[in-house]
Amino acid sequence: MMQQITILGATGSIGSSTLDVIGRHPERYQVYALTANTNVDVQAKLCLQWTPRFAVMNDEDSAAELRKRLQAENCPTRVLSGENGLLQVVEDDAVECVVAAIVGAAGLVPTLAAARAGKRVLLANKEALVMSGQLFIDTARENNAVLLPVDSEHNAIFQCMPDSLTQHHSSVKMTNQAANSGIERILLTASGGPFRTWSAEQLQDVTPEQAVNHPNWDMGRKISVDSATLMNKGLELIEAYWLFDMDIANIDVVIHPQSVIHSMVTYSDGSVLAQLGNPDMRTPIAHTLAWPERIESGVEPLNIIDVAQLDFEKPDLQRFPCLRLCYQAIKTGGTATIVLNAANEIAVAAFLDEKIGFNDIAVLIEQALEKSEISSDVSSLEKILAADAKARIITNECIRAMQ
Ligand code: NAD
Ligand code: MG
Repeated sequence: MMQQITILGATGSIGSSTLDVIGRHPERYQVYALTANTNVDVQAKLCLQWTPRFAVMNDEDSAAELRKRLQAENCPTRVLSGENGLLQVVEDDAVECVVAAIVGAAGLVPTLAAARAGKRVLLANKEALVMSGQLFIDTARENNAVLLPVDSEHNAIFQCMPDSLTQHHSSVKMTNQAANSGIERILLTASGGPFRTWSAEQLQDVTPEQAVNHPNWDMGRKISVDSATLMNKGLELIEAYWLFDMDIANIDVVIHPQSVIHSMVTYSDGSVLAQLGNPDMRTPIAHTLAWPERIESGVEPLNIIDVAQLDFEKPDLQRFPCLRLCYQAIKTGGTATIVLNAANEIAVAAFLDEKIGFNDIAVLIEQALEKSEISSDVSSLEKILAADAKARIITNECIRAMQ
């Protein structure tokens, strides 16, 4: 049976890796819809190549431009726009699987809608889960969504979990059972980013170009900066907390510069299970697309002799305070992680615009957490979006005060 797939964020790094894997299995997968922000050039190319039933652009101007270009090429793809367009291509009965690969808070509404519609949700958009936590997990569980982690670390952890936990469905179903299965700790590996060995002084002068140049992974600009500040690992800590229902005290962040071990799970008998592979997102994408089966992904086989050496070290929370702030926010709970995420998005955009320095990102997040009124009520999408909007205003004020 052909599986109909909607890809949210098709023009991005995860979107393009997903299409690469899908293209290797035309007998299994069909592209139902591709969504993008405003990049009409790339979206038009993708539509001509994949002829999805629908294409969605963020705004109506981009949609009108795409419509014009597709008509000129006699492409039958229908073009929609905005949130309604996203909801339509996520909720449609014909769609079985939704790849959530929009970057940042912009992905929350359609990703949560996919969970509510009981879809198979391939989650790359970690910010959506960081923002909505319990609401997202509850929504997925109540609607029998199959939630599969694309993020390489969480995908590795999922693969290292016992079959007895995962065979019935996805990570959402394994919650509360981990302790009974002898699982003791999760070891979340991190490359350490491009500035792992830099001093605090050196970090002051980091340019956007240096920050987006990751040593091991080829990713979008925002997540590349997050990897450089270790914010990405902090967001992943929060992601693991929700996906695997694991106490934060039982999740260790381990710096592993080779990015060959994608994470580990330790058991009560002393066993440590790890998932290894070349750092290429097509592996976790192929795993989640086909799970519980396995399909070819196009990733080069790992040559362990070439790797030769695996190193591990502790993260340095002094030089990389973003990770410390993530620990703090998850401990505070409520809207704290929403504020943290929103402040980070605004700060990273300002850094990429060369309005603030690299070390200012953490300063701004800390200020936003201090200045925001943290509420324990995160029970509805409206409340979550309101906290997000407020935190963005506060962070922008902090940026102005810095100038
Ligand atoms: P990217 O910047 O390359 O792509 C982002 C996609 O989202 C694009 O298609 C863009 O058009 C779309 N988009 C951006 N803003 C939007 C908006 N306001 N409305 C609608 N669509 C919008 O990012 P990426 O690297 O592919 O990352 C996507 C997500 O996957 C992020 O949440 C990231 O943390 C996560 N992730 C990425 C990687 C990776 O290797 N790239 C690994 C793990 C997790
Ligand atoms: Mg990751």
